[in-house]
Amino acid sequence: MVLSGSDKQILTALDIYVEALESPNSSRELVAAIRPVLRDWIECPGAPTYHLTQVLTGHGCFGEYLFRVVRREPTAECHHCVSGIVDTARHTREECPAWAVPRAAVSTVIGADLSLPAMVRAMSGSEQAWRVVATFADIVMSAKEAAEREREDSVDSLPIRRRRPGRRRRAHLVAIDRAPP
Ligand SMILES: [Zn+2]
Repeated sequence: MVLSGSDKQILTALDIYVEALESPNSSRELVAAIRPVLRDWIECPGAPTYHLTQVLTGHGCFGEYLFRVVRREPTAECHHCVSGIVDTARHTREECPAWAVPRAAVSTVIGADLSLPAMVRAMSGSEQAWRVVATFADIVMSAKEAAEREREDSVDSLPIRRRRPGRRRRAHLVAIDRAPP
């Protein structure tokens, strides 16, 4: 079946909601944020990207996910700010000082409230809001992934440490990857 552009957008926007429904333990907050605006969400003009999906679902390069779910890090700590703070999608979206500049760009479009419900509400009603959050996600997640690669390289360079099989490196991210449009 060949989908028109708008059909494809509707399906892919729904994909984020479906993914959240399918992993209720980690995505309960996202399900709750989308549900009140579900109709607008599935009809919204934006299309999810790989990094945007990570920022909304929390399934991706966040300390908590890398530690608790895929067990690739020894702690859930944020590597980008004060030692000991747990790195979650919420911490990345709303708090981590490392991302203050890209976060400020989001605030200029959607306002000071960057909670998940406010962000989802803004994105579902505005292509500009969708785009600015997607740009934030690309900037921040690219930087977090680059930092993770550096950590991996420094661990792999130690001869005694067990090296993780390279092929399986990004396996946890494949599940949430989206085919390019
Ligand atoms: Zn941080």
